[in-house]
Amino acid sequence: MAHIVLFPFLAQGHLNPFVSLADLLLRRRPALTVTLVSTPRNIAALRASLPPDSPLRLHSLPFSPSSHGLPPQAESLAAIPVRQFITFFQASESLRPAFDDFIAGARGSSPLCIVSDYFFGWTVDVARKHGAFHSVFLTTSAFGAAAYFSLCTHLPHALTSDDEFPLPDLPDVVVVHRSQLSKYVLAADGTDPFSRFFRPQISFCHATDAVLVNTVEEIEAAAGLRMLRCTLSNAAPVFPVGPLISASASEHPSSPAASSSEIVEWLDSHPPRSVIYVSFGSQNTIQAAQMTELAMGLEASGRPFVWVVRPPVGFDVTAEFDAEWLPEGFEETTRKEKRGLVIRGWAPQVAILRHESTGAFLSHCGWNSMLEGLIHGVPIIGWPLAGEQFFNATMAAQLGVCVEVARGNMESSRVERGRVAEVVGAVMSGKEMRRRAAEIRAVMEAAWREGIGPPGSSAKRLQEFFQVAGVR
Ligand code: UDP
Repeated sequence: MAHIVLFPFLAQGHLNPFVSLADLLLRRRPALTVTLVSTPRNIAALRASLPPDSPLRLHSLPFSPSSHGLPPQAESLAAIPVRQFITFFQASESLRPAFDDFIAGARGSSPLCIVSDYFFGWTVDVARKHGAFHSVFLTTSAFGAAAYFSLCTHLPHALTSDDEFPLPDLPDVVVVHRSQLSKYVLAADGTDPFSRFFRPQISFCHATDAVLVNTVEEIEAAAGLRMLRCTLSNAAPVFPVGPLISASASEHPSSPAASSSEIVEWLDSHPPRSVIYVSFGSQNTIQAAQMTELAMGLEASGRPFVWVVRPPVGFDVTAEFDAEWLPEGFEETTRKEKRGLVIRGWAPQVAILRHESTGAFLSHCGWNSMLEGLIHGVPIIGWPLAGEQFFNATMAAQLGVCVEVARGNMESSRVERGRVAEVVGAVMSGKEMRRRAAEIRAVMEAAWREGIGPPGSSAKRLQEFFQVAGVR
């Protein structure tokens, strides 16, 4: 039986779907050997979260953040100050010799298949060297990946004088606005560290043998998947095998989640679909001034909320959250009046989205967050902050399940309390968006249908992937 080696990037939004993929592979093919490879702290956290009889193997690669000038314990983007993100990406390439050694040791008589993150595109070389099959697993939407690949391949965009421009080399016209470009992309001149890291990773994706995507054929067939296949020059087959989401509340590597029971109890005390959940994911945060506008906007909306807060841009992300960053008395008053629950650091997100009282999700549009919302029929209020999140938001808006309330977290990125209140009100009371979200949920659930009737699209695509990869 084949051995599949999974190698996610060191970030929660990548680790979570890879763990779900491992779980899926082992459920579908119990005789497979599946090993997930990461750095020591991530592996230790995973080991603690898995049941003792889990068949998933874990392998840890030595990694020394401090030798790259990073905080010594920081093995996940969530624990890295934003100004050091690029250093962290570069440091991740130091895992190569140890990964190569591991693959050399894993090579045997059975077929070997590497499934890596696209941030570890260099694993294609390792696979070639050792005669292994190679696949990239994209943990984002197909539309987001295609748009971002096009954007990064055609750097620099800082030279573009127009505020809007069409992305090159895509079968459909995708017009990008300057406000949808992160500061890295805006500053990239093709020779800077961002370009030097990302461009080669994307080139490697062209050399892979197969691409798995955490999305659903029916949802992204018309635009995203067509664009992705075209971006990759149809070199490798693309298999949408989503939605793969965390089955339970994931644990943050450095700060434990707030007690699920307290939050669930609080949600229990509110009517169905009445609460708005606000979170900007595992690694992004907003400006202090934006935080004030958001707080006032939530107040003005009159809707109850659960808001996961982290220190604003410019402050140490791992530091204790300071109440000073919120309007005076906001946290205590809203809590006392049962109108709001401010959670510091990390929340059991899936448990919150699954709860029937949650009626909308104000999200940074990280793809895992969007999937976790949509699989529970929760419409999205989008506030994309970085990377391909801008394109995830666009795609979901086209599907009719997302309204953008704001964009970006640069000093120049504006958000107004009035707009927050207006969009929250419209989404919470909008019947059409809720109906669309219910439809998308049904499509997502059907993707994994098996048994009676024809198999769902993701179940079929996984079978096809097994065939292409030589996994019997
Ligand atoms: N997450 C969580 N609690 C939090 C924040 C995030 O459990 O307080 C999880 C979330 O459920 C998701 C992942 O972390 O699975 C974040 O991934 P996403 O792609 O949404 O965003 P990223 O953090 O990569 O920007």
